[in-house]
Amino acid sequence: MANSKYEYVRQFETHDVLLPDTYIVVRIDGKKFHEFSKFYDFAKPNDERALKLMNASAKNVVLKYKSDMILAFGESDEYSFILRKDTKLFNRRSDKIASLFVSLFTSNYVALWSKFFTDRPLDLKHLPYFDSRCVLYPSLAIVKDYLSWRFVDTHINNLYNTAFWQLVLKCGMTPQESENRLSGTVSSEKQEILFSDCGINYNNEPEMFKKGSLVTNKGSIIHVDIIKEIDQLFEGY
Ligand code: ATP
Ligand code: ATP
Ligand code: MG
Ligand code: MG
Repeated sequence: MANSKYEYVRQFETHDVLLPDTYIVVRIDGKKFHEFSKFYDFAKPNDERALKLMNASAKNVVLKYKSDMILAFGESDEYSFILRKDTKLFNRRSDKIASLFVSLFTSNYVALWSKFFTDRPLDLKHLPYFDSRCVLYPSLAIVKDYLSWRFVDTHINNLYNTAFWQLVLKCGMTPQESENRLSGTVSSEKQEILFSDCGINYNNEPEMFKKGSLVTNKGSIIHVDIIKEIDQLFEGY
């Protein structure tokens, strides 16, 4: 197309190119999903359909960019996509990677919604949307710590939420009473409370809830002890 006198405005566009030879993590997170989950009556504390919808959407993102991808990990309303340090995807432009990943994820989430929420159509006034960022990690050791961080977060949140909601739903406590009961307790005490007050053995909770979901670059979805498997998961990278 011919140049116009307006063409110069292009010069104002800057390209935020990510450092070469550095791992890229794209993390997306649902916007106001606390509200979103209430509107669509997600089961508390874990709606299995919602988690499976997140996983199915993430899997399609992974498969689209599988040669650039090491793996992806998700919990709650977030997903992290870990890219190879030598990826040349979109010439390593941060805005391109972050925006294309999150829009591809979101379009999948919307398109797949009815497969998981069969009797609850999306409402135009309550559509899901996600934020996205690219973070650079300079060494494999730090990437492993990043994934371990998300994994431990999954465990801590899930244990708290499971105990909190069981005390409310099974023991008839008010949310405030439940919060007070759990306040200041460590992990083992929460597990003990769950067992003695609610008759629930935390070990028997579903693996997806306790461990989050990992998507391999071949598209398998697994729920594993990431801390234990961390070296194996990154072998060869
Ligand atoms: P922000 O816009 O700042 O991210 P948020 O409301 O999305 O705010 P998060 O910290 O991202 O807050 O937490 C996500 C919330 O979404 C959880 O606290 C929970 O209430 C809800 N949620 C997400 N996934 C599920 C699920 N599978 N089952 C039940 N609730 C869920
Ligand atoms: P990139 O991925 O780098 O953005 P692109 O192919 O999307 O590449 P753009 O500069 O964004 O390139 O241009 C969008 C192109 O999409 C247009 O050149 C045109 O060919 C096509 N296009 C967009 N909207 C329409 C439309 N409404 N009808 C027909 N063609 C369209
Ligand atoms: Mg959120
Ligand atoms: Mg979140």
